[in-house]
Amino acid sequence: MNPMSSAILLVRFRDDAGPETCSALAGRLGVDRCRWHGSRLLCVQIEESSREGMLAELRGTAGVRDVLTAPDFPGPSAVRLPNGAVIGDGSLSVIAGPCSVESAAQLCEIAASVREAGAAALRGGAFKARTSPYSFGGLGEKGLECLALAREKTGLPVVTEVLDAQDLDLVARFADVLQIGSRNMQNTPLLFQAGSHASGKPVILKRGFAATIEEFLQAAQYVLLGRLSAGRREPGLILCERGIRTPCDATRFTLDVGAIAVLQTRTDLPVIADPSHAAGDRRYVAPLARAAAAAGADGLLVEVHPDPAQAWSDGPQCLDLRAFAQLMKGLRIERSEQPCL
Ligand code: PEP
Ligand code: MN
Repeated sequence: MNPMSSAILLVRFRDDAGPETCSALAGRLGVDRCRWHGSRLLCVQIEESSREGMLAELRGTAGVRDVLTAPDFPGPSAVRLPNGAVIGDGSLSVIAGPCSVESAAQLCEIAASVREAGAAALRGGAFKARTSPYSFGGLGEKGLECLALAREKTGLPVVTEVLDAQDLDLVARFADVLQIGSRNMQNTPLLFQAGSHASGKPVILKRGFAATIEEFLQAAQYVLLGRLSAGRREPGLILCERGIRTPCDATRFTLDVGAIAVLQTRTDLPVIADPSHAAGDRRYVAPLARAAAAAGADGLLVEVHPDPAQAWSDGPQCLDLRAFAQLMKGLRIERSEQPCL
């Protein structure tokens, strides 16, 4: 089927619809244009011209709860955090914190400081995706407990990575936003299950460092389908450009500033940028942060540590508390100086 003339319909089955009902419908429509996501959501590719007829037919089929078109979220795409901060409302929201959670004291010190500087949320890895199996892999559940304590003390919502679908229940119990890292951008079961998780927690999806924009957007669709399958009305998804691998090796990765602008035209989802992992060197974090903001990012993810030389991971790219406060001041000045954008 020519994709230009095709449309996708999402058929959600009722919980009491048996497997025979579901597979009978897929069989009738043609298995080659159907794709299951979980046992309750069927994506069907149809000719655009037959959309209305097919919608009516599917809506009248026994066992079908509803039929949606993709993407079809009636609710807003901006993500509201529990402290009232909104990512994607036209402001610049900064999420800051250490690469890894190291201790409750470390995290609470950072949280208080970044909050004072104007951060909207606290980041910190408890489950770390490290390239080397000999690098620090995170404190796990203890790290999540530290995040919860820092939230209690500062009121900052917490963003933390979920590495594996089997940890979703645990991480979602503590996190306000689930981060899916660059190395997991194509872990499709994790994408779908994070989207459909009963907690409804929003997701930050980081671009794979070798992924095209198209692949990134397709990965995003897995999360969105998960959300739809769980009956969510809002997409609850934030895209994060964090640098890609190119021949330019003077920085750790190359922040694809153009991708920020492109993603803003290709989707309604909030788009943030991570200048820290792109730079790999704290000297370049502020310039890349400003470049991302100028390109239209809705937010930034910045690594901060009180003593970067002693950080358990990614020390070279961490800003210290003062440098972060300075960065925040600079960003505020630039935004208020923008005349009538
Ligand atoms: C992180 O943000 O902690 C991280 C590991 O980043 P990435 O997945 O982009 O490498
Ligand atoms: Mn890091």
